Amino acid sequence: MRRDFLQMIDVIKEGALLLDPDRKVIFWNKAAERLTGFRKEDMIGSLWRDNILVHEDEEGRDLSGEGFPLLLTLKDKMPRKAEIFVTHRRGFRIPVSLWALPFEDEDGQVVGAIELFSEINPERNIRLRMEELERNALLDPLTKVPSRRHLDAELTALFTLWEKRKVPFGVLFLDIDHFKRFNDTWGHDVGDQVLATVARTLLGSVRPFDILGRWGGEEFVGLFPNITRDLLETIGERLRSVVEKTELETGGEKLSVTLSIGGTSTVRGDTAAEMVKRADALMYQSKQAGRNRVTIG
Ligand code: GH3
Ligand code: MG
Ligand code: MG
Repeated sequence: MRRDFLQMIDVIKEGALLLDPDRKVIFWNKAAERLTGFRKEDMIGSLWRDNILVHEDEEGRDLSGEGFPLLLTLKDKMPRKAEIFVTHRRGFRIPVSLWALPFEDEDGQVVGAIELFSEINPERNIRLRMEELERNALLDPLTKVPSRRHLDAELTALFTLWEKRKVPFGVLFLDIDHFKRFNDTWGHDVGDQVLATVARTLLGSVRPFDILGRWGGEEFVGLFPNITRDLLETIGERLRSVVEKTELETGGEKLSVTLSIGGTSTVRGDTAAEMVKRADALMYQSKQAGRNRVTIG
């Protein structure tokens, strides 16, 4: 094999796989390593093993064994093009388009077959993978509002701003009143629907730069950057009122829910955890005072 040729295909941006007539891997380039996660050491010199790079077509049909485009080309010496998926060493699927070509020496003798493959639309694939990761981690699956994990991250960010630049912020802790009765009367599924409706109603009632998410169970937390105590009270009162007025249709019945809310804002010597605890304790005061009310401390 001409060394200058191999040097050249080692630096192209397509992944390259070269098989000899006995199906032995004689070349695996840098782009193939990058695209699949499999190293040259794993590949070169070994017989082509289908399980190393799993090829599937769009319907998920396995293209290993005789259906593998490169093996077909090795056999009939015909070039072919295909769009398939390969499975990365870490397990995710990558759509690739590939060319399988017969490989000839200087005299025109076929001495193997080469596959050149490249990822289809890599920017989009990376973005979709990131979005999926993000959705999984940062949105609560039931209510589709920010999760506890997201709230924790935002709380840390806001708290850092407060410590470094004294930008104040407020925290509201919101808990649905007598939610257990709700579940007991209407069933858990209706309970779930109520949670989702309340969550989205709340999220739809705050400003775009406020953060509101599900803290857990039937509890929500709102984070309000750069806010005064009076404004926090106004927002708490608005959220209480919006939820109280929301009618939930279920099986022809109109149901309504109320919230007990506690709110607090940054004070000297605070910690992020302390603020949430304080808002929770103030929410509890709202419960004790008769529920469906806002207490700001
Ligand atoms: P209070 O007014 O004192 O807050 O009364 P409560 O019934 O709302 O409070 P409690 O903490 O006793 O009960 C909360 C209930 O929320 C208990 C649990 O069954 C229900 N719950 C928590 N998470 C979910 C959920 O994901 N789906 C449903 N359907 N119910 C949930
Ligand atoms: Mg609760
Ligand atoms: Mg409750």
